[in-house]
Amino acid sequence: MPSRKFADGEVVMGRWPGSVLYYEVQVTSYDDVAHLYTVKYKDGTELALKESELRSQSSFKHRKSQSSSSSPSRRSSSRSRSRSRSPGRPAKGRRRSASQSREHKDDKKKTIQETSLALLVLVLSKPSENNTKRYNGEPESTEKNDTSCIVLEQKLKPDLEIKRVLEQYSLRPRKDDKKKEEIYSEKKTFVTVKTIEKVPSKTKELEFGGRIGTLMLMLLLPATVFYLLLMCKQDDPSLLNFPPLPALETLWEGRVFGVFLLWFFLQAMLSLLPIGKVVEGLPLSNGRKLQYRINGFYAFILTAAAIGVLLYFEFELHYLYDHFMQFAVSAAVFSLALSIYLYVRSLKAPEEELAPGGNSGYFIYDFFTGHELNPRIGSFDLKYFCELRPGLIGWVVINLAMLLAEMKIHNLSMPSLSMILVNSFQLLYVVDALWNEEAVLTTMDITHDGFGFMLAFGDLVWVPFVYSLQAFYLVGHPTTITWPVAAAITVLNCIGYYIFRSANSQKNNFRRNPADPKLANLKFIPTATGKGLLVTGWWGFVRHPNYLGDIIMALAWSLPCGFNHILPYFYVIYFICLLVHREARDEHHCKQKYGLAWERYCQRVPYRIFPYIY
Ligand code: NDP
Repeated sequence: MPSRKFADGEVVMGRWPGSVLYYEVQVTSYDDVAHLYTVKYKDGTELALKESELRSQSSFKHRKSQSSSSSPSRRSSSRSRSRSRSPGRPAKGRRRSASQSREHKDDKKKTIQETSLALLVLVLSKPSENNTKRYNGEPESTEKNDTSCIVLEQKLKPDLEIKRVLEQYSLRPRKDDKKKEEIYSEKKTFVTVKTIEKVPSKTKELEFGGRIGTLMLMLLLPATVFYLLLMCKQDDPSLLNFPPLPALETLWEGRVFGVFLLWFFLQAMLSLLPIGKVVEGLPLSNGRKLQYRINGFYAFILTAAAIGVLLYFEFELHYLYDHFMQFAVSAAVFSLALSIYLYVRSLKAPEEELAPGGNSGYFIYDFFTGHELNPRIGSFDLKYFCELRPGLIGWVVINLAMLLAEMKIHNLSMPSLSMILVNSFQLLYVVDALWNEEAVLTTMDITHDGFGFMLAFGDLVWVPFVYSLQAFYLVGHPTTITWPVAAAITVLNCIGYYIFRSANSQKNNFRRNPADPKLANLKFIPTATGKGLLVTGWWGFVRHPNYLGDIIMALAWSLPCGFNHILPYFYVIYFICLLVHREARDEHHCKQKYGLAWERYCQRVPYRIFPYIY
């Protein structure tokens, strides 16, 4: 049984639960049975903490003395910001004293998996007024100055460890609500985190059902695409009317594959054009920021012009409709080849360039989720390119081809109202994504997920061939809707779009510039990472308002197809499942990132996507 390390009355540093912040605390008692110390923070808050969550003050002083700062002002005062190397890595050429060394070893032994400390920053506790004033609309509790030191320790520890730590804290009831608010506001947060070094971390917590789940998904996703396309071709696409399997040789045509390659490389060329601004992405874990050229909208305009020229010279765009399945097979083969290339090259990538979620060490899992975060050939970013270009613009071209095919097959002088609605709504969605291309840089796909089979297949096959299902369906299953119905569906789409766009812009602008005067009316909870969590505006309505808008739009895209079959509703059903799962993933990541601040946010904003429902 481990002996007690800290005595009653002793002043030590205690970690704030769920965060990476250490505060000065006084030990008030010790529970021999639970092995928990009761500690009192300076503001009177009492918590029960494990021994591994407590550190002697001298261990911080010791680290502080290793500061690499050469600034005299930094060295002269404990209030200065100081950077230190990882405790696991003593500074070269310096000797520790015997006691320091012993204590260091002790700490190391007692703190499970904490050898991966990446960064230790002493942060001045001066509050950032700009950032705290708006917190919860309770400025009186947030503008107080607290000049005590906070030690911010950012650890690159495995996900499970973070979860374990969160679970093992035992919080005592707070003395009063005001104090609680003060604690959450951190009074003095908005610290700048500077990375000194990156220690590689393995993905411990596997998503998507782990190895088995990802293997199944790799089989299931292509099978679903082909099933949907075969069903759509049937006269009666009822669920129980299983389509006959086509002969294998009919699925492949070299010319179709050639057209697909031409399309892919044309889009790649357009993305490399030196037009459009160059912006920086969010900081990577090593502090670096990658540069991205924002010219998706120009690429779209140029593609539209090229298609216009082809149509002018009577190029039969419904070639796409006639060979739709072969195009889907070509895209699937290409995405598989691309995934293999991505995985092979990721084996040579430096550890710090691997995706936080795709570094499990299991081939199948990493192959599926993507091993390397931002694979690039020179300045050409493969993931960023695939996210918005060949698949998304391809989706619009496919829709147009379906519209022309409908007119040709049914001998119409005008496309049907349903087809016009589907084409217009989805065109708006794609144009919006390209117009707001920069916003993709703050999404999970770019910041968290690696580039592997999941995104390659998703971007190049799933998006263009499944998202165009309604238009494909309408070619074979004409549906008549009245003008009032069309107007009602249009209103629904506009509502969805408005929520989707304003929520995404609000968060994107806030992330890029929290001090933006246009956002001055919004309130947020500060977090230990330096980023805030909006609690008013759209992000105070539900926790993922952008998903809500997206789902409303998805419904509006399916409604023009009538109610004869469930097939055109596949998109909205699948999309709800996708976004519910994605939301859960994001919540999990946010809880790890923001700890109690995230829990606080969840209390303030209880619904995830659908107000009063979910
Ligand atoms: P989001 O744009 O929803 O971003 C989630 C991130 O936002 C979180 O990880 C967190 O990141 C930040 N955040 C969460 N809560 C707050 C808050 N209260 N205040 C400030 N920041 C907060 O992620 P997605 O990439 O999932 O979605 C982007 C868009 O793409 C959505 O509109 C979605 O509907 C759409 N989408 C469309 C798909 C399709 O197939 N059509 C598929 C997937 C998504 P941090 O704090 O680190 O900044």
